[in-house]
Amino acid sequence: MTPICPLRRTKIVCTIGPASWDQAILTDLADSGMNVARLNFSHGSREGHQKIIDQITAYNKSHDLQVAVMLDTKGAEIRTGDVQDPIVIKKGDEVVFSSTASEHESGKKLIEVSYDGFAKDVIETDTILIDNGEISFDIVSVEKDGSVIAKARGNGEIGTRRHINLPGADIDLPSITESDWGDLRFGAKQNLDFLALSFIRNADEVKEVRLMLAEVGSSSKIISKIETQKGVANIKEIIDVSDAIMVARGDLGADLPFEKLPAVQDEIVCRCKDAGKPVIIATHMLESMKEHPVPTRAEVTDTAHAVATGADSTMLSGETASGSHPLVSLEAMIRIHKATEEHLSRLETTYDIHFRDSAEEEMDKAIALAQEEEVEAFVLITESGRTANHISKFRHPIPIIALAKNAIIARSLLLNYGVYPLHVEFDDSDDVTMQTGLDLAKKIGLLTKGQKIMLLKDRANKMEVVTL
Ligand code: PEP
Repeated sequence: MTPICPLRRTKIVCTIGPASWDQAILTDLADSGMNVARLNFSHGSREGHQKIIDQITAYNKSHDLQVAVMLDTKGAEIRTGDVQDPIVIKKGDEVVFSSTASEHESGKKLIEVSYDGFAKDVIETDTILIDNGEISFDIVSVEKDGSVIAKARGNGEIGTRRHINLPGADIDLPSITESDWGDLRFGAKQNLDFLALSFIRNADEVKEVRLMLAEVGSSSKIISKIETQKGVANIKEIIDVSDAIMVARGDLGADLPFEKLPAVQDEIVCRCKDAGKPVIIATHMLESMKEHPVPTRAEVTDTAHAVATGADSTMLSGETASGSHPLVSLEAMIRIHKATEEHLSRLETTYDIHFRDSAEEEMDKAIALAQEEEVEAFVLITESGRTANHISKFRHPIPIIALAKNAIIARSLLLNYGVYPLHVEFDDSDDVTMQTGLDLAKKIGLLTKGQKIMLLKDRANKMEVVTL
């Protein structure tokens, strides 16, 4: 039996915002185990985000366990307009949604919307949700002047620029807006590690971004965010052309009937594992920790479920961006990951893996041998990141120390389950490179003297079990 590994295998993305953009807090998050810092371009300015990027770049210069940066686009969001005071809504109220009018002849309360195609798209649904369902309306009628009359299902308040969902409707806006293209070029030009694309509905949208990356000569990796029914319907082709997937449960759970979310989440995780593409489970994971220092038991179980089903990474949103306990939230998530991973190691769970090629079959054999030999880590050299990605796909409990020749390739592996990427100088001799990597891994505490490990050389064609 493989010894229980003390190293956490499931990765964590932390969203950076007002609660965490202070240098000391950002450093604490990085030191405590944040693998990827997410910058949400729905908020803030490019200048503001650049400051965080610079702080993370400075951190990475002096640390071997690095933090990757993810730029997350705003996407084709529909929002309500600016209001001086929140609009108070009572159950049964009929209100008017309009992109043009500033008042309505009926005297009904008017809710301004940011999108001219609203009345056309609304026909494809019977519901309007505000703030992912905090307030919901039944559509009563669509008027000739393009305004939409809807009846409130409950009480609530609508403040400035609140998020609107039209569940199931195929919004007639491009998923990547003009302003997103500007943000993506800004990220691509400086080779930010990950570009997350909001509201991706088909593979062509991803391919367009891939073309832009080639034009710019960028190494940035593409994460497609699945947050609509359309994205779910096209999931196979989207996974094929993406580098990673995010299950963006905030919008997805509003676009789908929410009871369908768990099955859809699990299906996307399974598909990503099969395809060997990292998958992130995002939103509301420890939501109550925005205010409270301990998570609800349901949140603990939800996070553990993501780990147990083999997601590569979980994500903190408001918990670290705007909550009162950013560091405590990260620590709580780490505790849940570790406890769940330990439990899984004891169960020795196995997955039905579909091999895509002979390289994966070889990798499976290496893992079987490593488990038989009870090794405590793999150490491998990865030119492009592919070898590390391949072995991570199998979700075995043995950590993978991946030696990469530059920091960009090393950071591109920071979302992958079980992978500890290290940037080391490559030598002409793999043996020398391996020794450099082993020395570094021991120095920073990933490996200790006396441990039995397996070295994978020449894309895992050569395996060697050694004791440190
Ligand atoms: C989500 O909807 O779950 C999500 C991650 O996207 P955003 O936070 O950008 O709305």
